[in-house]
This record gives sequence, structure tokens and C-alpha cells, in this order.
Amino acid sequence: MVFKCQEDSFLKEFSTTVITCEKTDHGFNVICEDTVLFPEGGGQPSDHGWLNDYEVKSVTRKGPDAIHFVEGEQAPFLAGDRVHQRINWERRFDHMQQHSGQHLITAIYDKELGYSTRSWWLGAEDSYVDLDAKDVTREQLEEVEKICNQLIVACTPVTVDVYQPNDPELKSGNTRTRGLPDDISGPLRVVAIDGIEKNMCCGTHVKNLAQLQAIKFLNVEKSKNKCLVHFLVGNRIVRKLTECYDREIQFNNLLNGGPSSHIDLIKKLQVTVKSMQKSSKKLSTELAVHEAEKINSLDPKPKFYAIHRTDGADSDFINVFLRNIKLTDCFFFLTNGDESGKGQLLLYGKPEEIALLGEDICNILDGKGTGKGSRFNAKVNKLKPSNLDQCQKLVEQYFNLSTVEK
Ligand SMILES: [Zn+2]
Repeated sequence: MVFKCQEDSFLKEFSTTVITCEKTDHGFNVICEDTVLFPEGGGQPSDHGWLNDYEVKSVTRKGPDAIHFVEGEQAPFLAGDRVHQRINWERRFDHMQQHSGQHLITAIYDKELGYSTRSWWLGAEDSYVDLDAKDVTREQLEEVEKICNQLIVACTPVTVDVYQPNDPELKSGNTRTRGLPDDISGPLRVVAIDGIEKNMCCGTHVKNLAQLQAIKFLNVEKSKNKCLVHFLVGNRIVRKLTECYDREIQFNNLLNGGPSSHIDLIKKLQVTVKSMQKSSKKLSTELAVHEAEKINSLDPKPKFYAIHRTDGADSDFINVFLRNIKLTDCFFFLTNGDESGKGQLLLYGKPEEIALLGEDICNILDGKGTGKGSRFNAKVNKLKPSNLDQCQKLVEQYFNLSTVEK
């Protein structure tokens, strides 16, 4: 079966007759006499489009039929209904550019470097060919890209010929084939790029390489015996350039410098950040030691002591502070958070104090944590001054009462 979309890949609308319309899990599978909507195949994703006003979400091929999937509860058609098919042309033309582009890329890698294509992938962002090669150098990418673009500029024609399966031409070795699905029968299509190659393929293709506009190779991705050469064709290059240029303008403003200085400016920033982190860590350590010494020298010795920091520093401060504390009979209520109120809580004291106060303080600060022995650690979400006051009162109350009892 050669579908209408394969007969004329530039046909955007077509009227035909519904053969069956069957209920499935979430909608209906509609089979028509013929279709202008391409069912997925040959690496090319299926078309999107409409049957009358019903949106077609996917089209799949089963034997000689194309199955159009339409969402809904009510059957959209009855067998024998006339139906007007339309395709989402923007999506289809994009697929045609990538697919015909792939044929060209595959042919030129084979011709110039002897690298055959093991498989290919048409992605939403970019596409790739998996080459039977260990690696492809930057120079080779540029060379193949140049030849492909020369053939595009030369307006090289692309034609489709239909053969019967037993035609000797198909076995002559002139035509690239990569195994056909078992349920294919009837005439076979061969897509030819004039003077370059012939390839058995069910996809929809451009009529002339000029319709590809241009080919751009991106990167070579090597993983597990694969050598994936990523590429863009046609409008995708324009889209990518627009994205890159918009980002470049933002970088100009953020870095206060033109594109040629972006890398240097970012490297400089990284060096500055690293050195500031280093000096901030040093200062934080010195401050923690200083705070601990201050408390060690207090007279009379405090029963409890609180430090609430709001600089969002890491746990280093608290750890250094506790290491340098020499008081054995003091309860510490330490928090460290940022402007959002998120941060950490650490209680340090006698196990019975931790057991009594830990959970309550943690709950007031909307935290999640656990107490073990002389420590209670928690991640908290609400380090607001009013909540800290409430905790402080709880602690004061506990120690005043203990004092009275003594
Ligand atoms: Zn193909």
C-alpha cells in the first residue's frame, strides 16, 4: 500500500471515506480508504492533524492500514462517512527536512569516509545518525557538512520510484535497504537523491535538496560502541540560532561584555567566587572560635545560650563552635537560616534536656529532625523571629523552673 501522503508528500488536505471507527481505551481508532496523514515509519514520527474537526493525536501503520487515533467518548464517525483530512503542516515539513537531511548525511558519510549508518533518531530538539565509526573528528564533520550544503545549494532533485518487490533493480546493490517490517507487502518505494544515492524508505521527503535550506552538525556523542553525530536541518537551524542569539544578548548584559569575552569573564567570576568562599570559611571559623571563647569566659556560667544566625552559612560554624566550647553544664540552642526562614536547628545539652525540649522546639520551627543523646538535629522551615521568641521562652521557662526546684 502506498498512501496518499507517500504519493504526494506536499499534499496537505484530502477527502476520503471512513472504513471503520473502533472504540479503544481513551478514544477511537479510525481507518480510512486512504490517508494524507503519514503513519510513523522509517524513523519518521507520525503526523498530527484533523479528520474533519477531530484532532488526530497519532497515526500508526498496521499491515496495509493507517490507524488514526482520535480522543473522545462519542464515536466521531460511522463506516461510509465522507471525511476531510488535514495535516499539521509545520510538524510534517519539519519531519521531512530532518528525514531527507538524514538520507543525505548517511549517503555522504558513506561516500566520503566509508562510515555506514547503523540507525538514526529524529528527536524533538535535534536528530542523530549512529555511524559505524570509532570517532568523527571536527575536520571530518566540517568536510561532510560542506559537501551536504553544496548539494543543497546545487538544488539537487529528490525523486521517489515505486517498484514491485521482485524487481531486479532492488537486488542490484544500487539501493540502500535496512530490512523491511514483516507486514509490508505490495509495491516498495525507493527515494533517490539525484546522482548521490538510492534508499528504500516509506517516509515523506522533499522534492529537491534546496528545500532543506541547510544542514548543521552539532556534536559527536560517543557511548557504549555508539558514535552519534547530532544534526539540525532547515528551520531548526534558524530556531536554534534565535535561541543562541537571545541567550548571547542576556549574557552581554549579565557579564557586561561582548560574546568574545564571555568565557574569560565567567572564568574570572569563578576564580573570584572560589576565593571569596575560602575567605568566608576562614572568617566563619574564626568567628565560631571567638564566640565559643566569649561564652567560656562568662561569669557566672550560663545555664543556656542561644545563637541565631541568618547568613545562610553551612554547618561549619556550629561544628567549630561546639568543638571549642568548654562548658559542661550549658544547654545550647543554635539556629542558622536564610531569608526564606529555612535552615537548620541544633540543640546541644544533657540527654534529659534534649528529650524534654527537642520535639517542642522543632515543632514550633516547623522542622523535621531527631534527637540522640546530647544532640538534636533538624531541618526547619520557619525560622521567624516570633517563632524563635516562643522557643526562647520555652527554654527560659524550663531553666527558671529547674533553678527554683534546686
Ligand atoms: Zn528514510
